[in-house]
Amino acid sequence: MELTFWGVRGSVPVSGKKYVKYGGHTPCASLFSSDKDLIVIDAGTGIMRLGESLMKNRDKKYFHIHLVFTHFHIDHIMGLPFFPSLFSRETKVSFYSPLKPGETQKLLSTLMGGRFFPIPFGKTGAEKNFMEVPSGDFHIGNVRISHIPLNHPQGSFAYRFSEKGRSILFATDTEHPEEGIDEQLVSLAKKADVFIYDATFTPGEYKKGRKGWGHSTWKQGTRIAQKSGVGKLYLSHFNPSHSDKKIDNIIRNAREVFPETYGAREGATLSLKGCS
Ligand SMILES: [Zn+2]
Ligand SMILES: [Zn+2]
Repeated sequence: MELTFWGVRGSVPVSGKKYVKYGGHTPCASLFSSDKDLIVIDAGTGIMRLGESLMKNRDKKYFHIHLVFTHFHIDHIMGLPFFPSLFSRETKVSFYSPLKPGETQKLLSTLMGGRFFPIPFGKTGAEKNFMEVPSGDFHIGNVRISHIPLNHPQGSFAYRFSEKGRSILFATDTEHPEEGIDEQLVSLAKKADVFIYDATFTPGEYKKGRKGWGHSTWKQGTRIAQKSGVGKLYLSHFNPSHSDKKIDNIIRNAREVFPETYGAREGATLSLKGCS
């Protein structure tokens, strides 16, 4: 599998000198399986750049895009109207979400339509189909996908993508429990090669009035990483008010607890070779 981060910023896109290292686009990542199936996780503003690179690369395999939504908060869908592939008649997009197919379609039609956007979602060129994520594991090509619900306003999903003995877990919008640890997430994360976690707040910020906002801290990320024995922890969903310098500090602090901690960076690609 090959994973690329296209957006790692939570809540709202940011730009400026302070945000060059980690990037300012909101959440989106692409995952290519060894068979070149293309899975896209969330449609934050980063999806625009992914779309541009797909349109340049005319490999027919990438004309079928599997777009998996963690949830529908605006930072995770706001790039969709600017995703070039959605407007291409050569493309097919399969939408996967925790909601019923009709609800997903309705939400995306609200985002792209009415007084919000000039081209209605239903009139865009790509062939579309809609799938509710089943209660158990499911497959996209050879990639097995396991999931659990997270603690987040209106709900959110964590997804674990596994192929050939390697796995990548996304858990970007979640708030840790008041006491103890999210055991369900620890067990989903068990021995994952890559664990991507919500580092929106520093522990200090979280304590000062951010409880109940649905987000977590690097400290919780390191605790889950340790307990579940993951290979690498990638902190993500960065706070729009955190500069590169601040994020560097956060990673330095996290490495004291869990040395294999990294910051997710826009444009960075991680390649995981299969064991078999
Ligand atoms: Zn978010
Ligand atoms: Zn959210």
